[in-house]
Amino acid sequence: MRITFLGTGTSQGVPPIGCNSEVCQSTNPKDKRLRASIHVEWDGLSFVVDTGPDFRYQMIRADIRHIDAVIYTHEHRDHTAGLDDIRPYNYLQNMKIPMYCEQRVLDSFKMQYDYIFEEYPYPGIPLVNFNVIENGPFVISGKTIIPIQVMHYQLPVFGFRFGDFAYITDANFISEAEIAKLEGVKVLVLNALRREPHISHFTLDEAVALAQQIGAKNTYFTHMSHQIGLHDEVCKELPEGIDLAYDGQTILI
Ligand SMILES: [Zn+2]
Ligand SMILES: [Zn+2]
Repeated sequence: MRITFLGTGTSQGVPPIGCNSEVCQSTNPKDKRLRASIHVEWDGLSFVVDTGPDFRYQMIRADIRHIDAVIYTHEHRDHTAGLDDIRPYNYLQNMKIPMYCEQRVLDSFKMQYDYIFEEYPYPGIPLVNFNVIENGPFVISGKTIIPIQVMHYQLPVFGFRFGDFAYITDANFISEAEIAKLEGVKVLVLNALRREPHISHFTLDEAVALAQQIGAKNTYFTHMSHQIGLHDEVCKELPEGIDLAYDGQTILI
């Protein structure tokens, strides 16, 4: 399995427009973060989690030419705003692209992208096939994916387990019953926004504590704000086996 971090930034990206902070002025490419998304290549299958506003550039940058499925964590725009750019895959693959999300997220797509769902749609719209998932394992092309339901303030959103790998973003609480689904994961991705408390995201300290509880061999943090600090300096202070992810990073499992 090969994991590629397509984006590791929070909703405004790093840098946000017009910011003069030390992190935003850094020349280290690891301090530049597009909106959170990940690519999972699993036995030749190509899965993308979320299509945020940077989706088009992320697909070009990672040279991803085929998508077997897009899987959505939740309906916030920093995870959905790039859906229109699925169209090149319609042409490349000559098919509707399968999408997986829960019913509430699909209802939101019907409002955000009403033109996709019209009975007589305008030519050239994204061609997608929505599959509704619930909080139980689902299978795509023979691969079992396990949703992990996490709380994002008061909104339940999904993380996903793919074999020995799990991806969780936009969480500030995970119940013990959901944490139990992560037993034995070798590589874990978890969100860590910044050092100061936030209403809907784990802080760096909270993410470290949870990573240590789950006990994956390697944990990588994502969905970071510029307020988290410089990539290389924060990594130095983190416990062994825990690191900040960076855009373009690939991991083989
Ligand atoms: Zn987000
Ligand atoms: Zn969110």
